[in-house]
Amino acid sequence: MDHIAQSLIRIVGEARFSDRPEEAYFYSRDPGLMPPHKPDYVVIPERVGEIQEIVKIAAREKIPIVPMGAGLALTGLIIPLKGGIVIDMKHMNRVLKVNEGGRYAVVEGGTSQGALKAYLEKNHPRLRHSIPDSPATATIAANVMIHGQGRLTQQYGFNSDMVSGLEVVLASGEICRIGSCALSPDWFSKGPPMPDLTGLFLGWFGATGIITKVGVKLYPKKRLRDVEIFVTDRDDLIPEMVYELTHTEMVEDINIFAQPKPMIFKDNHHITMFFTGDTEEELEFKRKMVWHALDRFIKSKDGGFMGLPPVMKPTLLETPQRSVSRFADVKKGGGFEYSGPIIMVDRYPQCVRKIVVLAQKYDLGYSGMARIIGRSHAMMYGFAFTFNRADPDMMERTRKALHEVSEFALEAGGVFWKATVHEQKMAMDRMDPNTLGLMKMIKKNMDPDGIMNPGNWEVD
Ligand SMILES: Cc1cc2nc3c(=O)[nH]c(=O)nc-3n(C[C@H](O)[C@H](O)[C@H](O)COP(=O)(O)OP(=O)(O)OC[C@H]3O[C@@H](n4cnc5c(N)ncnc54)[C@H](O)[C@@H]3O)c2cc1C
Repeated sequence: MDHIAQSLIRIVGEARFSDRPEEAYFYSRDPGLMPPHKPDYVVIPERVGEIQEIVKIAAREKIPIVPMGAGLALTGLIIPLKGGIVIDMKHMNRVLKVNEGGRYAVVEGGTSQGALKAYLEKNHPRLRHSIPDSPATATIAANVMIHGQGRLTQQYGFNSDMVSGLEVVLASGEICRIGSCALSPDWFSKGPPMPDLTGLFLGWFGATGIITKVGVKLYPKKRLRDVEIFVTDRDDLIPEMVYELTHTEMVEDINIFAQPKPMIFKDNHHITMFFTGDTEEELEFKRKMVWHALDRFIKSKDGGFMGLPPVMKPTLLETPQRSVSRFADVKKGGGFEYSGPIIMVDRYPQCVRKIVVLAQKYDLGYSGMARIIGRSHAMMYGFAFTFNRADPDMMERTRKALHEVSEFALEAGGVFWKATVHEQKMAMDRMDPNTLGLMKMIKKNMDPDGIMNPGNWEVD
């Protein structure tokens, strides 16, 4: 056994270390299309001190480290492109603190969405956080690292906008606290009114530091939730409809989906709206406001509310929505990737037409889904394709389709979300040179030896 392996075992013990090929296989891939690449070592730390020691070894030996949550970002961000040490964060899964009055929680850097949700339901039933529709094992730190979106995004922005502080292990192995927690015991702000340093980490995919604690803002959890779906065949009217809906400020979350299967959904666009309230009266009032906002589209016969059979509601009201994961395996064989550019809402018709063209051109199963970010400030448009991993031809067709999506996203004025390495390069080639210069400055100083998730945001 080599000396690096021995040092890592000294830190985490044999049970939480592996350099065996069969285990490296699982850490070499994700469900998406990026070719696999094996790590040399995998470690599963349980304490911040262990992460510090691991990072110090990586810095001394100049070998890569790749932090990993659940590995569900799908765009290859946890694939150890240059080998090295994968740090599997999942054992750091504790909720450390909830401040009920200040409505925030502090969790460890590998805490899953499901763990925080369950903890709050049991101990703080009047609070909740912004849960994405990814499987419940997805981690909170990784989700804010990639600027994910969840159930409260229409009201409060990206999930990363709801961060209230970070603790990070830097490439040197030092620990750094970001936000009010840098000088106060309270984790109520990620920066303001001081400089907001979370930007040195969030969006960098672990290429500047490893999050060991994250503070997230919590929001009121109302007693009741309901869902309505407004259906239209006019993609060109969707931006106007969303504008009217967001003007009401009555809706928790707005998702729009268009997909060819099952048949009931074909050729239509479905605006799914979620409402919350503490009483039936509150819900009824919100429903009325929304009906009123969309009334003119009903009168012009451009859309109408879908009568939702009672059996459908619980599925739609699930958080996270398991139906999203079920789509991921429609083709069987475990292949799923979606590109989700962040783009203006008025580009909805272009996006939805593009996904139909691509699905036909490459003969693929697809689902198009938009999640509204803020009060119609932007949307994440998910170009989702499912494929069978045992079918290399289908994988290649999906790869080509997603490549076209990347080109399209930039042409349509969008920016990449959870960008693949290829998209990162496209973005860096096209961005303002002074912005790129600033990124170079940050990366060079934060990770002078280039050991942090190398291959990602390689600005040099
Ligand atoms: C069916 C399905 C539905 C989805 N729906 C949504 C959705 O509604 N909203 C949404 O936002 N996303 C969604 N996703 C995408 C993705 O699963 C989530 O964003 C998820 O939160 C990613 O978390 P993860 O733990 O799997 O991240 P990983 O893939 O493990 O990591 C993502 C990135 O973060 C880095 N990282 C991980 N942990 C740390 C750490 N502690 N410190 C520093 N860097 C770290 C990794 O190196 C990597 O670059 C969905 C995915 C699937 C499969």
